[in-house]
Amino acid sequence: MTDFLSFLIDVMAVSKFQSAESIQVAIDQGYRLFGENRVQEAMAKWPALLSTNPTCRLHLIGPLQTNKVKDALTLFHGIESVDRPKLVDEIHKNRLNSHTRTTEFLIQVNVGCEPQKAGVMPDDLPYLIEYCQEKDVPISGLMCIPPVDENPEPYFLFLTNQARQNGMSIISMGMSGDYETAIKCGSTRIRIGTAIFGPRPLK
Ligand SMILES: *Cc1c(COP(=O)(O)O)cnc(C)c1O
Repeated sequence: MTDFLSFLIDVMAVSKFQSAESIQVAIDQGYRLFGENRVQEAMAKWPALLSTNPTCRLHLIGPLQTNKVKDALTLFHGIESVDRPKLVDEIHKNRLNSHTRTTEFLIQVNVGCEPQKAGVMPDDLPYLIEYCQEKDVPISGLMCIPPVDENPEPYFLFLTNQARQNGMSIISMGMSGDYETAIKCGSTRIRIGTAIFGPRPLK
């Protein structure tokens, strides 16, 4: 089994669909950064886990609806799925209230221009970065999920170039099936689900 805990880059343990009990096992093994892709599911599991494990960090890595922004800002330390101006507006409106826990924001890029996937289209990225600056939503990096069944390398390299060109330090890419390629291409944070927890329980 891969010893992810010895990696020098950030390793996020992706705990979607996993029970609080399995998550606690991962915490006891030493994982500290966790990712969930649904606000509702995370709200059911994580307030208790965070109160007993206060050194853990929780990030949202799935699509965010504008009506869930307040909840997301209250629960997550990081939001990695910023992808459109309307969402930036809503974050801007709520970010500075006293319940906000979120300190890190990443823009998700739809690197394969896939219509069914979340993320800003690559052509619209410069505008979205500018928009975030105007709205005082500080962006620390970029996140992507490349198309399945394709060589991810050109997509990873694209994301790394965009992050570097914009002076961003966090590059969130690479999952169980492609993290080695992602690291080779400049990833600073891999997001690992099944290779840590095993196959996801069906929901
Ligand atoms: C589920 C998920 C992962 C982890 O996928 P695995 O293939 O199980 O490692 C990573 N990133 C996102 C955005 C996900 O939704």
